[in-house]
Amino acid sequence: MATLAEVLEIRTAPAAPELVENISSNRIRCHACGHRCPMPEGAAGVCKVRFVREGTLHVPWGYVGGVQCDPIEKKPFFHAHPGALAYSFGMLGCDLHCSYCQNWVTSQALRDLGAVSPPVDTTPRALVADAKELGARVVVSTYNEPLITAEWAVEIFRHAREAGLMTAFVSNGNATEPVLQFIRPWIDLYKVDLKSFDDRHYRQLGGRMEPILATIRRLRELDVWLEIVTLLIHGFNDSPEELERLTAFIASVSPDIPWHVTAFHKDYRMNDPENTTPEMLMMAADIGRAAGLRYVYAGNIPGRVGDLENTRCHSCSALLIERHGYLVRQYRITPDGACPDCGARIPGRWGRRFDGQLISTPFVPGTRRLRIY
Ligand code: SF4
Repeated sequence: MATLAEVLEIRTAPAAPELVENISSNRIRCHACGHRCPMPEGAAGVCKVRFVREGTLHVPWGYVGGVQCDPIEKKPFFHAHPGALAYSFGMLGCDLHCSYCQNWVTSQALRDLGAVSPPVDTTPRALVADAKELGARVVVSTYNEPLITAEWAVEIFRHAREAGLMTAFVSNGNATEPVLQFIRPWIDLYKVDLKSFDDRHYRQLGGRMEPILATIRRLRELDVWLEIVTLLIHGFNDSPEELERLTAFIASVSPDIPWHVTAFHKDYRMNDPENTTPEMLMMAADIGRAAGLRYVYAGNIPGRVGDLENTRCHSCSALLIERHGYLVRQYRITPDGACPDCGARIPGRWGRRFDGQLISTPFVPGTRRLRIY
């Protein structure tokens, strides 16, 4: 029986020329993520899914490792078309190896024999048709790290745009300037996981902090709608001093960037830290607000974090969007994206009207439709 690596090896296409650099007669550098791997003939990068054969950089193509429909609030985007259905797809592999990963079945598929998520062959056209049929407004590349499979995401996003859909990445943010330029024409929304504000912690996860900070700055300059998430893990990233530096950084880029501080629960190989409590989230949120952030949210513990699931006007504090978990209970933003009480402009990507919420819990669409053999 073929191994997963063998199965994936034939589901590839040549890399986008923008993401390839020939650094010598037999070495190629990949620019799809911040590792910028130099690879000799026959080698694969840190992500294990991009590799050099016969002088060509091959990249994942033609399959999904998972498809799911979620409320856009689950991604989480709180300032982009609230209530919309997000059609999420992922491939396999990641450039980091976080021991607490909540998507490890797809992200660590080539590193961990326990991670089994067989690929389903499909086409961009089939995925977008499925998204449209289900009523999705946004197509999201997620579950594995989308930067390392950027070519496939862009091909799907081209079709999504043609079909009138928005597009998004849910990413660790370990990007490069070439990959941001490559995706920029095709992407509307970007969520970055800012996992820590300590480079030593990032190195434990297999990365470096500086490329992630550079991505955050650059996404704002490129006018891609950006929201940031920090999964709060006791003993890893929850010291007040680290959170002060982290939130001061975000505020220095823009106080309008929504910051979601979310609760850790024991997962994958990280089973030591206690689960994050509502009190821990509220402490972190206080730090974020003190740093000047205008939109701070607490996630993963619905109904137990006070007002931290709701959106309030930064100017007059009026309640604009009331939520419980992923459920939007009340929506008051005006058609031109302002507070109905004081008229302040609310940062985000808002629809002309709130169409209600299609779903408030995730579901897996019938993947049988996706099989294109
Ligand atoms: S995507 Fe990142 S980890 Fe993978 S080969 Fe390219 S630079 Fe290396």
